[in-house]
Amino acid sequence: MIEFAVKLAEQRKSPEEREAVLAEPGFGQVFTEHMITIEWDTERGWHDAQLRPYGPLSLDPATKVFHYAQELFEGMKAYRQPDGSIVSFRPEANAARFNVSCRRMAMPELPEETFLEALRLLVDADRDWVPTREGHSLYLRPFIIATETGMGVNYPSQKYLFCVIASPSGAYFSGAIKPVSVWLSTEYTRAAPGGTGFAKCGGNYAAAFVAQQEAVAQGCDQVVWLDAAEHRWVEEMGGMNLFFVYGSGADARIITPPATGTILPGITRDSILRLAPDLGIKVSEEPISVEQWRDDVASGALTEVFACGTAAVITPVGQVKGADGQFTISEEGGQTTLRLREELVGIQYGNRPDPYQWITTLA
Ligand SMILES: *Cc1c(COP(=O)(O)O)cnc(C)c1O
Repeated sequence: MIEFAVKLAEQRKSPEEREAVLAEPGFGQVFTEHMITIEWDTERGWHDAQLRPYGPLSLDPATKVFHYAQELFEGMKAYRQPDGSIVSFRPEANAARFNVSCRRMAMPELPEETFLEALRLLVDADRDWVPTREGHSLYLRPFIIATETGMGVNYPSQKYLFCVIASPSGAYFSGAIKPVSVWLSTEYTRAAPGGTGFAKCGGNYAAAFVAQQEAVAQGCDQVVWLDAAEHRWVEEMGGMNLFFVYGSGADARIITPPATGTILPGITRDSILRLAPDLGIKVSEEPISVEQWRDDVASGALTEVFACGTAAVITPVGQVKGADGQFTISEEGGQTTLRLREELVGIQYGNRPDPYQWITTLA
């Protein structure tokens, strides 16, 4: 495996300064004192791996990423355990998905063990930045950019930079488990068959901001994406996958749209699909239309809706608004939503058994 050169920051924050930041970190606002960088080019492959002080990158204005957006990223968290150790949740799945995204974006794959070693080194160097407060964590953001200089569009970049940065984070949506309201976007499309919907590339987000702005202008918190052809089939919410709960208590079952290329296959989504049956909740992956959503809420068959992803874990959806009107699912998170959330968070923070071996120690 590639060897990392280690250059530690000369100036470190004092424990008091660090505590002041960790008291109210927000989300993705502040960063730790180190970062990982690894270079790639066609001759040498992956080389020059470093753990080094966090700081700006210097890039030529003609660098390819600025012009053609050859970029993609991952997102995961490091969680403080009751015994003080630091773990992550299924980081191997992030490493694998990173490479799926790389293939789609014509970028070089990074060996999974190098991806994991990068996380371990960074978290170990900045271990004091992993929050101890309940619900807080250290958000890890690996990403890769095309660094070749030149604007030729006939071939992908011949040089890349892989980087990992880390950001102490509080709860993603302020107010934690208050339900969000969503806007059904019929004007805009996130992904089409053959496109990049399944890849975690920045370009998907660049094209999504305008729809998120529209959602906010409509008085909603988040945009819900529908399929490209009919604007009828539900895909996902902003940067999170969606689940629909039918029935309640021992009769609860959950469905989520199948991840067939236009949806980002969330690791949280996959974990819920595996964990729910062991809690007695039936699961299925099936398409759901906007009409079915509305009608089944009206009939009472559909009892809860929630979104899931690493950043906000599980968030209930309360209100739905679209061009044809609006309806309310519930004013507070439902029983099944909260149960799944508790189970998942319990595993991540080491307060519950981990029967699936989802926890990997980083430091
Ligand atoms: C990252 C992401 C998700 C959630 O994936 P997790 O692995 O659960 O964090 C869902 N949708 C989009 C568009 C995403 O980028």
